[in-house]
Amino acid sequence: MNHPPVLVVNAGSSSLKVKLLPHHLSLLVERIGGDTQIKASFATSVRSDGISDHEGAFKLCLTALAEQVPLASIVAVGHRVVHGGERYTRPTRLTPPVIAQIEALSPLAPLHNPPNLAGIRAALHLLPEVPQVAVFDTAFHSTVPTWAYLYGLPRRYYSEAGVRRYGFHGTSHDYVTRQAAQLLNRPRSELRLISLHLGNGASAAAVQFGHSVDTSMGFTPLEGLLMGTRSGDIDAGVLLYLLRSGMSVDELDQLLNKRSGLLGLSGVSNDMRDVRRAAAAGDQAALDAIAVFSYRIRKIIGAYAAAMGGLDGVIFTAGIGENDPELRVQALQGLEFLGIDLDLDKNARGERLISRAEARVAVMVIPTDEERMIAEATLEALAS
Ligand code: ADP
Repeated sequence: MNHPPVLVVNAGSSSLKVKLLPHHLSLLVERIGGDTQIKASFATSVRSDGISDHEGAFKLCLTALAEQVPLASIVAVGHRVVHGGERYTRPTRLTPPVIAQIEALSPLAPLHNPPNLAGIRAALHLLPEVPQVAVFDTAFHSTVPTWAYLYGLPRRYYSEAGVRRYGFHGTSHDYVTRQAAQLLNRPRSELRLISLHLGNGASAAAVQFGHSVDTSMGFTPLEGLLMGTRSGDIDAGVLLYLLRSGMSVDELDQLLNKRSGLLGLSGVSNDMRDVRRAAAAGDQAALDAIAVFSYRIRKIIGAYAAAMGGLDGVIFTAGIGENDPELRVQALQGLEFLGIDLDLDKNARGERLISRAEARVAVMVIPTDEERMIAEATLEALAS
């Protein structure tokens, strides 16, 4: 990959990640507003004392980067924006009306869009001459059909309040399915692929002939697979039951988003490596947590094969997908009837293509690279 310097920005509620590509210079500022820490992929003399907001953090990153590269060489800034609603289906140049729209979408993503906007404002203020682009996490899923995005509520909750499946991790699902098509040396427009992004957050996408046709995260990133600390799918009746038994809305929010998933089920950790260690020592709750995690993946592979009328490839990506061969075996168990046939040696070695040569379905391990995809999408948006 060789292109002019693009700065990729991912601003969270108390963190700021920036990466300059193609140089691969990255910086992470954490605990903004508290005991701020900065981590860099290169040696730098900057100090994080006294940083109280995203603009301060961004300035710090630019100072550090300026020790390595002339800042004037940066041709574009690409921002990760979590929620683009139904309006933003592709990367979009940031102008005042676009920023106002992203702000208007904040009620749909109260934890994500406001910090994303803080990053955008800081970058616009500190690099006012450089064109900036928003790359939306939801955009790749804008092709999901009506029957896959509507919930079974009265229609006006969708038409008036925007309650529908949006899906997230779109940049990652888009990137790894492109890479998969390259690896298989076939056009993505001929392939039915299932992408499994299994990190702290986890989601699956059915990508039929290059378009996302279903995905497991929904109105929020809470739906679908089991995750590090999020419950994934749960009967909405359980929420009513807990509310009626006296739990507050905030407590319920904490429970579902921060205390459930691998952490809640295992009682050990949200980190799969810790859960694995406990399971290996015979801890039944840890074994159950891994079984739930892998069963949900298996079930969704069956569902998405049905949604697409067949299956050509399955892709594992992100922390767990890329690094846990045992999980891949567990998730794919019993799926031979679909044409899945894992080569256990290749899987254990973590090769890119881990299915047997004669298998009908290609199973792949493809490291995700959202920053690279954002940089490329940013340049494309500015060129068009
Ligand atoms: P995030 O969603 O925060 O970007 P990552 O994609 O980095 O998350 O994935 C984090 C998850 O990957 C953690 O559960 C971690 O335990 C898991 N992970 C990383 N390396 C391994 C490994 N070697 N074996 C099993 N799980 C791993």
